[in-house]
Amino acid sequence: MRRCAVRVTGTVQGVGFRPFVFGLAEDLGLSGIVGNDVHGVFIEVQGDGIDQFLRRLRTDAPPMATVERIDVTEIDEREEAGFLIVASEVADGAASTSIPPDTAVCADCLAEMRDRADRRFGYPFIACTNCGPRFTMVVGLPYDRANTSMAAFPLCPLCEAEYRDPRSRRYHAQPTACADCGPQLSMSVPEVVEALSTGRIVAIKGVGGYHLACDARDEQVVSRLRERKARGDKPFAVMVADLPTANSVARLDPDDERVLQTPARPIVLAGSRDQRLQEAIAPGNRFIGVMLPYAPLHHLLFDAGAPPVLVMTSGNVSDEPICIAVDEAEQRLTGIADVFCHHNRVIQVSCDDSVVRQVDGVMQPVRRSRGYVPQPLSLPMAVPPMIAVGGEIKAAAAVAHRHTAWLSQHIGDVENLETLQMLRRSVAILSDLQRIEPELVVSDAHPGYLSRRWAAEFAAERGIPHMTVQHHHAHLASLLAEHAVPAGEPVLGVVFDGTGYGTDGTIWGGELLLGSYGSVERVGHLRPISLPGGDAAVRYPGRVGVAHLHAAGLDLGDSAPGRALDRGDLRLLKGMLRSGSHCTPTTSVGRLFDAVAALLDVRQAVDYEAQAAIELEALAEGVTATPWTSPVEVDGGEVIIDPSGWIGAAVSAHRAGVPVEQSAAAFHSGLADAVVEAVREVARERLVTTVGLTGGVFANAVLSAACVRGLREAGFTVLTHRVVPPNDGGLALGQVCVAGAAGHP
Ligand code: ZN
Ligand code: ZN
Ligand code: FE
Repeated sequence: MRRCAVRVTGTVQGVGFRPFVFGLAEDLGLSGIVGNDVHGVFIEVQGDGIDQFLRRLRTDAPPMATVERIDVTEIDEREEAGFLIVASEVADGAASTSIPPDTAVCADCLAEMRDRADRRFGYPFIACTNCGPRFTMVVGLPYDRANTSMAAFPLCPLCEAEYRDPRSRRYHAQPTACADCGPQLSMSVPEVVEALSTGRIVAIKGVGGYHLACDARDEQVVSRLRERKARGDKPFAVMVADLPTANSVARLDPDDERVLQTPARPIVLAGSRDQRLQEAIAPGNRFIGVMLPYAPLHHLLFDAGAPPVLVMTSGNVSDEPICIAVDEAEQRLTGIADVFCHHNRVIQVSCDDSVVRQVDGVMQPVRRSRGYVPQPLSLPMAVPPMIAVGGEIKAAAAVAHRHTAWLSQHIGDVENLETLQMLRRSVAILSDLQRIEPELVVSDAHPGYLSRRWAAEFAAERGIPHMTVQHHHAHLASLLAEHAVPAGEPVLGVVFDGTGYGTDGTIWGGELLLGSYGSVERVGHLRPISLPGGDAAVRYPGRVGVAHLHAAGLDLGDSAPGRALDRGDLRLLKGMLRSGSHCTPTTSVGRLFDAVAALLDVRQAVDYEAQAAIELEALAEGVTATPWTSPVEVDGGEVIIDPSGWIGAAVSAHRAGVPVEQSAAAFHSGLADAVVEAVREVARERLVTTVGLTGGVFANAVLSAACVRGLREAGFTVLTHRVVPPNDGGLALGQVCVAGAAGHP
């Protein structure tokens, strides 16, 4: 008889893979064993029908599993009675298996939770092998109950019986429990519903941290939340009761609807349908972020009559990470929340809700976090064990080994001790889970980033090398990696973003980089302007507008920033621009958007990063206008995009009273035209077939779509992001690849 040893790798633990293998073997009358180890699942099978077994291993795998590889070797047959699930093997060495992400409650559990006759009727922590928390409750590998937050909840006899039964949906389901033995809420569901329905702000402990929740249609409570969170105009996401409600507040197409309902349950950004709601939760914007209930508690709240549209925003103090512990929430959210709904299942690691948005027909992550992390990402080359710390804004870290990287959850802006602490913790957790002993630490090249300083300290402590990677090179590498572009195959990257430290010490952000993971050549860029105050100008588009006017040789005259700015500020600004003191040259396209927004009087100051650009995009959406032109020139072998044409056009349009939507659209399409022209200029001298669009500016759907269209018409293959965000949330993946290609250490 035939006997095979089978090795399955991928996300195959904590997803019901062993009972699935057990059932499959029994079905086919095969004998053998199955078990978990740090590399995934090992199987030995014996009998006829092994081929069918191997085929169905892939096709019939459980819903939460991702099978990456199946390796089969023939071995000697042996005497044995049946098929057995054997104990997990604990071994040393790096782990190649991955913990699954947290997953929305499944349909089976939901049905049980709503069934009066079921023993888990109304239980807010119902879960099974196919659903529930994973990443946020794991403390280590192997993935067994003892290594999760559930270790604190010994199973009752009924739960224990299910847990031990390979035929049960709860066989070795680590989060399983019931009202008799499992986690509990600190408030009853009707009490929470009552609080939400009477205009209170409720801090609700969830899967990856606390949410601050309130009735999104109650304008008073929403503005109270906004004030207490000191949030300015920054948009709030909403959770809606069901798909029809989602459709009543947002313009969703079938792809949006599909993504909304995936087990990851991200926030989907879509056009708003409800003007009044929009004004309350996302003023000045035309998009709203919507998500569906994902934790059993969310369903219980809506079932019990909670308002059908709830603001559900991260329970944090502005700029700090989301709260995960009861005492921490009580301390930090007092004064924001009126009521606290805690639970006693420990959250091991915070994980914010993920955000995705359709850009030109492609689902693009804006924030890759709960539901996606820690899914492994394949690398285009083998890398030594390493960690990469990302950038500063919207940071995410990564650990990597061989051909795989694991990107961390969204950490936030690493500008204070709290977020730096979270960065350290995320790196520690990921390297523990994957058992990675780093031999190299990679960071951004910006000397002012806290993450870079920490990387240097970490490397020094361990006596391992610290490598820095140029910001925009990392952006391009992240895009190439997610498209599996082989190392050494050159791509022309159009890297547009807000801020990144250039190799010449100036602020870059409008770059044409030609190359691959190993190296890039800067073949073009936006013509630099002098920016008074450097990075600090990010908060004041009005000042950036003045700087751009100065660079374009235009008079301040009666321009919008000229009128809006304080006289003293203006005098200071002009002095700085004339003398060049405290000015940094920048090629940033993010700042170009700021300048145009200010000149069109859309915005002179912002409450959150990229606000002016987001509002300008919203104005341009769906509007057709004759593109504003601006020169593209070749100078000393570099292609230079000169922004002065757009600056002049913005001033004249504003003076002439052209509708701002028209101007916004004309700027977007003009910029896209310049991108196509600049790429063509590069391609005249160099071999360019593929163009990659990356950097935070390409989160702009209007600009992205116009660039993709123009470049395709010009005959280029175009790459855009679909796995990691185009913003700095994707940087760590690129850092890993650049370091890997450098052959370090
Ligand atoms: Zn389930
Ligand atoms: Zn129980
Ligand atoms: Fe960036």
